Amino acid sequence: MAGLTAAAAFAQRGWSVRVHERVSEVRVVGSGLSIFENALRVLRAIGAEEDATNGAREGIERETRDAFGRTTSSLQYATRMFEISREQVVAALEKAARRSGAEIVTDSTIVNANSDGEIVNQKGQRMKADLVIVADGIHSRLRDVLRVPYRRYPLKDGAIRMMLPRLPEELINPDAKKNIEYWSGNKRVLIAPCSDSDLYVALTTLNSDVKGRSIPIDKELWSQAFPALTSLFARMDKDARWDRFEVVKMKHWSTGRTVIIGDAAHAMAPNLGQAGACAMMNSLSMAVMLEDAKDIPTRLIEWEKRERPLTDHTQRYSSFYSMLTLWPDHMRSLAFSLIPKIKWLRGQHLKTALHIPMGTEGMEPSAASRSNTV
Ligand SMILES: Cc1cc2nc3c(=O)[nH]c(=O)nc-3n(C[C@H](O)[C@H](O)[C@H](O)COP(=O)(O)OP(=O)(O)OC[C@H]3O[C@@H](n4cnc5c(N)ncnc54)[C@H](O)[C@@H]3O)c2cc1C
Repeated sequence: MAGLTAAAAFAQRGWSVRVHERVSEVRVVGSGLSIFENALRVLRAIGAEEDATNGAREGIERETRDAFGRTTSSLQYATRMFEISREQVVAALEKAARRSGAEIVTDSTIVNANSDGEIVNQKGQRMKADLVIVADGIHSRLRDVLRVPYRRYPLKDGAIRMMLPRLPEELINPDAKKNIEYWSGNKRVLIAPCSDSDLYVALTTLNSDVKGRSIPIDKELWSQAFPALTSLFARMDKDARWDRFEVVKMKHWSTGRTVIIGDAAHAMAPNLGQAGACAMMNSLSMAVMLEDAKDIPTRLIEWEKRERPLTDHTQRYSSFYSMLTLWPDHMRSLAFSLIPKIKWLRGQHLKTALHIPMGTEGMEPSAASRSNTV
């Protein structure tokens, strides 16, 4: 998400761009993404919004419920939000990057990089550029090679993600338009319809819950925790994947003319649906700020100074949300019921989604835009 957004944004500003991808095709795991207005604006700016949202479901509200299906809170999005399959978003980004003139080289693993803008691939070939953008994800190797000090630490929770086919009866259910998060003790289940055909489900639990995080899922265990969802668990025979939530914090995002972006620089728990959005916003703003830069290293420092506070806020708030996993049910339900009611809390929750990314100011709302209120 970070690398392809940057590729499109820089190529559109006249840079000659080459993307190195280590695998043989641009591909992603089957799961859904919540894409809020801030990220939609970035997609629009690089010409990928239509492809990304085509057939996707526009969400209106997010509910939290208890294990028995009783609603504990309801938050109307104060902004547009589409739930989209990850494949569709990444395919739209790839198309936009290629259309803008970026070259994408697959089967090309970068094994070394330095702050002078030099990189080396797995065949030992050296290449040099005015700017090197490292976007190699949470398990970044190049982050270590570049020797920028950083902290990477796991949170206590993680998620099993999967996509399920939607059933015809689900489409006429009033819940069909909502993202619903069920909580029971340390476990939660996010149900997020992506389109008429795809349902994204994330089962979150503690990393120490070995049975709870096992794949194939322990249907009996999950049904005991969420009796209201027994029929959903019964359908879970498809591929799934467990990821523990982690946080990465770098001392600085750039060194010389080499910059680290996306999860490699600032991974966070995915509780707000904003980790990929931060990657995309920062990619676009970097392209905008470097457009007329004579001194790239200095401009990168200025860019980080401007963009980092929002990313830091998003990381903090996402980690706080993960901490709720450890709270007793009644305390957590109270906290959720307060978010829509207390303006400051609601503002903190929606701050990133409501942000107008650099490079998208003055943009007209798109035709699909709704005039929502909180
Ligand atoms: C459970 C879960 C749910 C999430 N939900 C959301 C959501 O709803 N909304 C949202 O905005 N975000 C969400 N996220 C976060 C989002 O997935 C990430 O923030 C985003 O994928 C990060 O993108 P990236 O480009 O930095 O890294 P990645 O997507 O990891 O991409 C890194 C790329 O670099 C390639 N690569 C790695 N090493 C090399 C190398 N040495 N040489 C060449 N290529 C290399 C990889 O093959 C890969 O293609 C979620 C994350 C999780 C775990």
